[in-house]
Amino acid sequence: MPHDNRDLGREVRDRIKRTGEKYQEALTAIRDGCRFIFADDVERFLAGEGRRGVPHEEAEDKEFLLAGLRNWVSECYTCGDPGDASAEDITIQLVVASYDPDLSPATKLLELRRNHARCAPSQLLWVNQKDLSSAPDHTTMCLRDQSLLEGTFAVTPRSVMLPADLGLDPQVAEPALLINVEVAEDRGRGAAPWLSELERVFWLPAGFSERFTEATVKPGWSVRLVQGYQSSLAPNWVAIRVAESSREDEPPGHLYLGALDIPAAWSEALPATGTRGRILVLVGPRALNREVPLVSAEFEPGQLGELLEDGAFLRAYLPFIHDQVGTQGAPLLGASGYVHGPDGPKRG
Ligand SMILES: [Zn+2]
Repeated sequence: MPHDNRDLGREVRDRIKRTGEKYQEALTAIRDGCRFIFADDVERFLAGEGRRGVPHEEAEDKEFLLAGLRNWVSECYTCGDPGDASAEDITIQLVVASYDPDLSPATKLLELRRNHARCAPSQLLWVNQKDLSSAPDHTTMCLRDQSLLEGTFAVTPRSVMLPADLGLDPQVAEPALLINVEVAEDRGRGAAPWLSELERVFWLPAGFSERFTEATVKPGWSVRLVQGYQSSLAPNWVAIRVAESSREDEPPGHLYLGALDIPAAWSEALPATGTRGRILVLVGPRALNREVPLVSAEFEPGQLGELLEDGAFLRAYLPFIHDQVGTQGAPLLGASGYVHGPDGPKRG
């Protein structure tokens, strides 16, 4: 439909009143015959603000989105009724993955939602890309031994206090992370040979040692402990990293990424908030004289000390990141997560 100049001017002003767009944007939208509305923060995201880990050539900008949206006639995300951008205002919502070095190192555009303007505003919604289970769980890892049999292990981390007389400082009990490994599939050989093989090909080359020295692990190994993560994920979790990420948009390799029970006394004994220190990590149990020591779910007082004195665990200090992200709440977004800022949950 050809526009009379005066009509066009009025139409542009009306549109600016509704959308808050700049004159040129409103004019272009009307000339294109589409009535999509982008909020300021949506515009800024599409212009590159807050983006991390997304290669430039893969980043969607506004032109790219509009090209895909032309002549769009489809259902409104909120009410489900048809919406026609050539005839009515349609708002654009972007659902974007929040940055987290372990959960989502790239702020990817996860979903584009179109709504009638009367149903929902244009918005930028930051969510967690990955859900962790709410309770401590195990992860499994596979290892191929010399005979090319594949062993499967269940890995469960536990927060433990090392008795004062067993740590580096004989006066003070020391918080440590115990990584308990169970043979999930022994293929009729019993657990001991699998644990010995795991020690030989995995723990020892990584730098874990029997002696209580300050053993240094290979580069790429580190522990990141996160407390108070405001999301649908477990608020307290740990990432045990065993390899650097190979690409900026890929997470590091994890031995374990999941919830962790964090008793207050243990947490308070850790290096101060925000510091990069080191944490003692115990791994095991080891097969001792072809026997596997029993590690119960709850230690009796003194039992950990006995196990350590028997040599049931290897140990090393790992680079440690203690991330206390605070407790500021954020609105819930459906089942997929909470809304928060581009850098993950707000820091307290
Ligand atoms: Zn609607």
